[in-house]
Parts: sequence; C-alpha cells; structure tokens
Amino acid sequence: MSETKTQGLQTRAIHAGTSPDPTTGARITPIHQSVAFVFRDVEHAANLFNLDEAGFIYSRLTNPTVNSLQDRMADLEGGVGAVCTASGHAAQMLALFGLMKAGDEFVASNKLYGGSITQFGHAFTRFGWKVVFVDPDDPDNVRRACNERTRAVFSESLANPGGTMCDVQGLADAAHENGVPLIIDNTLATPVLCNPIEHGADLVVHSTTKFLSGHGNAIGGVVIDSGKFDWSTNNHYAHLTDPNPAYHGMSFVDKFGELAYTIYSIAVSLRDLGPTMSPMNAYLTLTGIETLPLRMRQHNDNSLAVAQWLEQHPRVEWVSYAGLTSSPYYELAQRYCPKGAGSVFTFGVHGGYESGVKVVESVKLFSHLANIGDTRSLIVHPASTTHRQLSDEQKAAASAGPEVIRLSIGIEDVDDIIADLDQALNASTGE
Ligand SMILES: *Cc1c(COP(=O)(O)O)cnc(C)c1O
Repeated sequence: MSETKTQGLQTRAIHAGTSPDPTTGARITPIHQSVAFVFRDVEHAANLFNLDEAGFIYSRLTNPTVNSLQDRMADLEGGVGAVCTASGHAAQMLALFGLMKAGDEFVASNKLYGGSITQFGHAFTRFGWKVVFVDPDDPDNVRRACNERTRAVFSESLANPGGTMCDVQGLADAAHENGVPLIIDNTLATPVLCNPIEHGADLVVHSTTKFLSGHGNAIGGVVIDSGKFDWSTNNHYAHLTDPNPAYHGMSFVDKFGELAYTIYSIAVSLRDLGPTMSPMNAYLTLTGIETLPLRMRQHNDNSLAVAQWLEQHPRVEWVSYAGLTSSPYYELAQRYCPKGAGSVFTFGVHGGYESGVKVVESVKLFSHLANIGDTRSLIVHPASTTHRQLSDEQKAAASAGPEVIRLSIGIEDVDDIIADLDQALNASTGE
C-alpha cells in the first residue's frame, strides 16, 4: 500500500493499492492467474479460514491482483474497504446481499440504467427483495417510500441514460432518518467528478466496465464501503451484528468494526454466491484507472462542446446534459460534479422513433453499441435496445422515450465527433 489521501487524485489513480512486486521487482502489478495460494502450515491455514489473519486462500474470495484494485478503489472513493465483482450488476447484487434478506425492501431511484431497473424489478423479487421505485428529484419521495422493512436506498449520482444529477446529500439525509444506508452508483461520474461518500453516501457501487477500465475491454464491478454506517443502531442487519453460525459464532461488527461489511462481502457474499472478478480484468482496470483523471477531463470538455452544439441544431428537439445552463440539473451538477457533468447524456431528435433509428444507423465514427465510458464515442437508441424491456411508463421515467438518443462522448478530436453527428442528423430527415 502506498501512503495516500494527502496526495492528489492523479497521483493516487496511478499509485494507490500497488507497489513494485517484492519478489521480482516487476513495476506493473502482475496478473496473479492462480486459483489458490499455498499455506505456510496448518496453523496459517486455520488462521486464514477463521478470518484471524488476512491473506489469500482461493481466488473466489480474494486474489492479489484483484486486491490491488480493491485498495485503489477504496482510496479513490474515500472508503475503508472495497470488494470487486464480476460485473456492475454483480456489484449491485452483492451490495444488497450484504443488507437484505427475503421479505425486506429497498427504495430505488426510477432514473437508473435500464438493466438495473430490470434487475431490481424482476430478478431480485425472486430473492424476496422488494424494490420501491421513486422519483429521486424530491428526497421526500424516499421518505414516503420507507417503512419498517426498508433496508437501503439506491440511486445513481449522474444517471444513465439521461445524464441527470441526484441530490446525494438530500437522499443520504432521507435514508439516515429511516436508519438505512444510501448506496450510490457512481459509474457515470467516477471518483474524478463526484465523491458520494463526502456527501453522505454509505456505500458506492460501480460498473468498472465503463470509465474506470475505460477502453471497453473488461467487465467488472466494485462495492466500496465508507465504513461510516453504524450497523448496530437497530436490529436490521443481524447477519453483521449477531453471532454467525458459519464462523463459530463470530460477529462481524464486533470483530472487524468499520470493516465489517467489507469482510462480510468477501467472506460470505463472494464465498457463497461467487461473482468474483478475474485477475485479468482487475489488471486491465488498474491500468485503465491510471489515466482516468486525464480521460475524464477530455470526456467533459468534448461533451460540453457537443451538447452546446446539439442545442443549436435544427434536427434536435432537446438536449439533456447537466453541464448545460439550460438543464434543470445544472445547479445540482455544479454542487456535486463541479469539474464537469461527464460524457453520457441524451438528446431528442425530431421525428421520433424512426429518426432515432436513422441516426444510429448513419453514424460512421461513433460505434452503435450498448456500452458507455469508452475512449471511443458511442451511440445507442435506448427505446430499441438497452431500455426495450421496460414499459412505456418506465421508459419515460428513465428518460428513454422513442425520440431519445444516448451518447457516450469519447476522447477523439471534438471536431470529428461533431462532424459525424452532423451528417447522421442530416441523414435522419429521410430526404
Ligand atoms: C453498465 C451499468 C451497470 C451494469 O454494469 P455491468 O458491468 O454491465 O454489469 C450498472 N449501472 C450503471 C450506471 C451502468 O452504466
């Protein structure tokens, strides 16, 4: 571990969680493509299994390469610990598995990535977890939705696809008044633009697949714990506070204090559910993060220029980008993402569904695909792809109506990005 926190973000993005390999001197964190790790002796093995000593046992739980990424992400988000997962969706499952049992509820923003709305509203109900979706623009909606079975509140900081910003502190206050933690999906903002923990969030999740890995080459996720939530204030999180029969009656909170949730997530959630990140993907993500602050600067600059240009375009009905002064989310973005509003946002094209389809089929530089956060500029028509599983009502709530096009602006030269959009928009007139 490097000495951090006092150092700047760019320095920590390169150094946090990693150091030269002590045995070989390798400067880059090796890909520890090993399933298991040799015990020194039986006592060592027993200590590891009893969680009396930290170390590596079997890569379903932890692995040295993955551990470096965990330490880096905990550092960048200002948390005490982090757990990497196989994907962003796995991170959401793990984050909630550490809080919920069958019959429990959680309150979630209705402005979420379409896949998350489906995961929460369908798959998770089969675990007996009930989600209550609310419009996060008014934190009182969260207060009204909470009851004695509520165990968490979930929102995206900058939301996919609409690029809208939530009031992190307002949602944290509403969650805390009800004795539950706030989970923020910080995928679109990244720790470069927004630090949810500084604004009251208790847990932060990411799809590392997006800006963190940054090059469209590695699926992954992470859950970061602020270490600030007091799990023992009520009886809601008995699996963390009470004696655990699978660990000789040990209480995670008594034994690990502020690390209780992180250790539980590794020693129970990853052990028993198994959605582990691969060492190769951890390596690619560590490498990607080294340039994250640089890339985010270019993503922001390009996106603001494209959004301002789109606003003037005759084929464009509206632009939803929190970095524009015309956006109703401009003030919130200035407060929570002062360096820029990221590079994922939507606009409406005149002519509805047909025109939307024409635009995505006419681009040349942009890639028409279902991903965001790549160095490359990406485009998708949510109504026909990422959000097609949703009802019309859910589509509208998630800003994914028929005329909506989602952009993820890359770090190419901005003139080339604009020229490509211009020719695609002009092609969408059908003349
Ligand atoms: C992509 C995405 C996810 C899901 O992540 P995967 O890595 O694809 O599983 C979750 N939340 C947001 C905001 C996303 O953009």
